[in-house]
Amino acid sequence: MTTNSLLILPGDGIGPEVMTEVRKVIGWFDGRGMSFDVSEDLVGGCAYDAHGTPLHDDTMAKAQEVDAVLLGAVGGPKYDSLDFSLKPERGLLRLRKEMDLFANLRPAQCFDALADFSSLKKDVVAGLDIMIVRELTSGIYFGEPRGIVTEGNERVGINTQRYTESEIARVARSAFELARRRGNKVCSMEKANVMESGVLWREVVTKIGAEEYPDVALSHMYADAGAMQLCRWPKQFDVIVTDNLFGDLLSDAAAMLTGSLGMLPSASLGLPMANGRPKALYEPVHGSAPDITGQGKANPIACILSFAMALRYSFDAGDEATRLEKAVEKVLADGLRTADLLGPEGGSPVSTGEMGDAIVAAL
Ligand code: ATP
Ligand code: MG
Repeated sequence: MTTNSLLILPGDGIGPEVMTEVRKVIGWFDGRGMSFDVSEDLVGGCAYDAHGTPLHDDTMAKAQEVDAVLLGAVGGPKYDSLDFSLKPERGLLRLRKEMDLFANLRPAQCFDALADFSSLKKDVVAGLDIMIVRELTSGIYFGEPRGIVTEGNERVGINTQRYTESEIARVARSAFELARRRGNKVCSMEKANVMESGVLWREVVTKIGAEEYPDVALSHMYADAGAMQLCRWPKQFDVIVTDNLFGDLLSDAAAMLTGSLGMLPSASLGLPMANGRPKALYEPVHGSAPDITGQGKANPIACILSFAMALRYSFDAGDEATRLEKAVEKVLADGLRTADLLGPEGGSPVSTGEMGDAIVAAL
């Protein structure tokens, strides 16, 4: 039996609370045909408290070696006045950068039991299961030149959208590989009508699709039209691949098709390691939620579904991932709701721990 190495970084705020529930889930899978080697360390504000830095070098080194890193959340008001370089978020950014995690996977999946809870009409979102792949390490957030300069008698803010062929190619391959394991469809979004980087993006994605993934159906859309289609009829998509800026916007919009922040997992993947598994970091989309920390109100599902993504994309355990997702679906269908999943009409919420226990029981 292959042992799967996992580094858990619970972090700050509700991070440790939701991670407690994930540990119960890992405990259930461990020994049932799978084996885990779990280590745990500090990131974010708690790492600053212990070591004076939001990510210790030893933790960084460990993250480079394991099959997957699972992170809770970082940050909180206690750290607001820290110097920029010491802020909890810098710990997370350092992980992403040094692990070179260029493909950010954000699923938008609607559990039937929550279809009424979405802001959209039920038939638009019921059964929705799409994946947005956002390029995470290049593009306009990093391109040079950048800055605020003075020209004549006014100031000018400058950012540069810049993509190399290889940067486009590697994220495109991630999207095509994913599509093969899902609905076999990729829609690439850019604005080739007005941006040179978009012209190159479309050219490279088309070439890789034709040469390496002829079995995957590829389409292209301008990102503005894509945003509209995503709201109008999101089920037309399977995998969407797009750049850093458009992906930032489109993935947030797609996420909210499905309901609460407490439900949304994510994965960030890099190049394959020596064992063939990609460098990988999994984390819920939500933050440290200081307003509900320590009250047993946090919804652990986003973090539990992040572990399901780790099962699927790092541990070659697609069936186990599906089993875990089905367990989540079952407890929701049974009517269990943490406070964030109750509408204005209210109801009686279950606690973080009760939700975790119910999911384990459903497994
Ligand atoms: P960050 O800057 O780290 O992204 P944020 O303040 O933007 O943090 P969150 O910390 O995610 O965002 O919190 C936003 C709101 O959503 C808060 O009211 C929080 O209580 C709620 N929230 C976030 N995650 C959860 C969760 N897992 N369960 C319940 N409520 C949550
Ligand atoms: Mg935020």
